[in-house]
Amino acid sequence: MSNILTLNAGSATIKFSVYHAGTSPVLRLSGHVDALGSDDATLTVGHGESRHFRHLGPIDHAAGIRAILEEVASEHIVAVGHRIVHGGTEHDAPALLDEAVLSDLEQLSAFAPLHQPHNLAGVRAAMAAFPQAVQIGCFDTAFHRGHPWVNDAFALPREYYAKGIRRYGFHGLSYRYIAEELARIDPDGHERCVVAHLGNGASLCALRDGHSVSSTMGFSALDGLPMGTRCGQLDPGVVLYLFQQEGMSAEQISDLLYLESGLKGLSGLSNDMRVLQDSGTKESQQAIDYFAFRIRREIGAMAAVLGGLDCLVFTGGIGENSAALRAKVCADLGWLGIALQDEANSRNDPVISDGKVVVRVVPTNEELVIARSVFNLLDRQGSPETP
Ligand code: ADP
Repeated sequence: MSNILTLNAGSATIKFSVYHAGTSPVLRLSGHVDALGSDDATLTVGHGESRHFRHLGPIDHAAGIRAILEEVASEHIVAVGHRIVHGGTEHDAPALLDEAVLSDLEQLSAFAPLHQPHNLAGVRAAMAAFPQAVQIGCFDTAFHRGHPWVNDAFALPREYYAKGIRRYGFHGLSYRYIAEELARIDPDGHERCVVAHLGNGASLCALRDGHSVSSTMGFSALDGLPMGTRCGQLDPGVVLYLFQQEGMSAEQISDLLYLESGLKGLSGLSNDMRVLQDSGTKESQQAIDYFAFRIRREIGAMAAVLGGLDCLVFTGGIGENSAALRAKVCADLGWLGIALQDEANSRNDPVISDGKVVVRVVPTNEELVIARSVFNLLDRQGSPETP
């Protein structure tokens, strides 16, 4: 039986799935390595109804990938689909990863130094583990490559745009999944849609007829909304001040903005929304207030980009599960035509408001987007291994 493996390496977690290569992807097993970089990373594997865990100890990304590849070593893998954070200006679709493309993508590591090297290390490890398999890259930036120029450029001198200093936008696999789901669920109801992907990373995307026209994330995965440990939108003057007046090094500033800010920095407690909601401290409440306020503010901005709003979608760990956060975000958006139904919201119904603006909760599935992309690409190439 031929199978497809998907690998989705984030900053602290690596998710994976194995799909049967049938007429469309059918999930066989899935799992994740959690808490990378901590003292006790764990591997969880789910197979139908059954689950098993394995303690891995204090391991890094490379060892996490090895643990996953060992776990699936007995599967007949014909293709591996990789989530790759940065596809640069060129890659607006999934791509076969040969040496030329890989070296191109290695050049982009400078644009995403905390993520791209891990993604590419995963590709190299999968090539070694499954030398016969095709490796395919699915880029988080690709879904946003059609942005109009005003949403693509910064107001810097022209030569910086030419050097690739642009607003790329991220979370593209998640947004592609949501756009495809909306087209399936309600083909006529989402001409102007804002999707809020709220997990450890968080961003908004404005969709017009299922195509991305704007994202709150820009050049890096730091911009826009505050996140678990990332600052979100910040006056660049702050970075200059920290560098010039506080004498902080580039590495210290990077650690501050990527790892110590956001919900964690504001609460002084945790990056985990559940912990903040349960803690009851003033600082935790302020962190949640700030998060909700910035989401609301950006929803207004995205509605302006779209010239109105037909549909608002919540997804990601927080967006899918926290009724309290959704209610807080929507509380003052009545002027936009948003009125949550409290009961539906507290039950996590798929439609939590069917007023002028339909508000939905749609669980995302980046792995399925990767698997579908692999299928489509293999299909177009007429691979003998797939239907
Ligand atoms: P990642 O971006 O790492 O994939 P997730 O999408 O899994 O992250 O989201 C993680 C976030 O979701 C954490 O802040 C976690 O607290 C939050 N979360 C998960 N379940 C709930 C819940 N029931 N209520 C509130 N927040 C939740």
